[in-house]
Amino acid sequence: MGIIKRYHLVVLCIALILSLAAYGCLDSPSGIDENTNQFVSTATPGTSAEVFLNDSSFARLELEIDYMPEHEPSQQALDSLKSFLQARVYKSEVVINTPTEVESGGGGTYSADEIRSFEEEYRDNYTDSRGNTLHAYFLITDGKFQEQDNVLGIAYFNTSMAFFGETVEEAASGIGAPPKEKIEGTVFQHEFGHILGLVGNGSPTQSDHKTAGSAHCTADGCLMEPSVETTDFFANLFDGSIPDLDAQCIADLQANGGK
Ligand SMILES: [Zn+2]
Ligand SMILES: [Zn+2]
Repeated sequence: MGIIKRYHLVVLCIALILSLAAYGCLDSPSGIDENTNQFVSTATPGTSAEVFLNDSSFARLELEIDYMPEHEPSQQALDSLKSFLQARVYKSEVVINTPTEVESGGGGTYSADEIRSFEEEYRDNYTDSRGNTLHAYFLITDGKFQEQDNVLGIAYFNTSMAFFGETVEEAASGIGAPPKEKIEGTVFQHEFGHILGLVGNGSPTQSDHKTAGSAHCTADGCLMEPSVETTDFFANLFDGSIPDLDAQCIADLQANGGK
């Protein structure tokens, strides 16, 4: 990835963090507001890393998925995400609900603000702080990300992630392009990595492997490398299999209550 692309990604991440800061700002590291005792689902990504990783607040993890027409996620990608989560989080049960089709947002590009309003409209399941289930949310859109058109997915709240179906299709087309299910599987896991607090953003780093200016990993070949959420990775670096977390990322999750 060139210096200019890298610069753009850093700018994007900073812009996202700034735009999300207004929603976040909880006193507690869990996502549970200490004043109201309610679980807040509009905190910044990584805020609830600990409650995703351990089972002391919520024993179950449930993922709701909404997708816009023609962008239903592949079963293979969802299976790989489930295995990834089962390998890293202490939950008695990880459930991925059957994806539900929602209306098209009109295609083209979507801003982070538009993504948040789609979530408000379509998301059905939120975490009850007195309950046993932690709820996460995926929205798969039929467009591209307005802020940066090579981005495949974003984690935008502490339990919410969005994916850009048009960009995924583009990365999966052309001679020698990787299959769609591998791209989806990779990006689903990468964005969930941010929800689990990687890198150094909710799960404190146990060694020096955080990129300067973004919540990514400096280790070559790690799932949390910055390029993994962009088309650049699938055009140039993808070797056909979903990248694993490197030992340093796993150590961070373990130190924060994960497996
Ligand atoms: Zn990322
Ligand atoms: Zn790593």
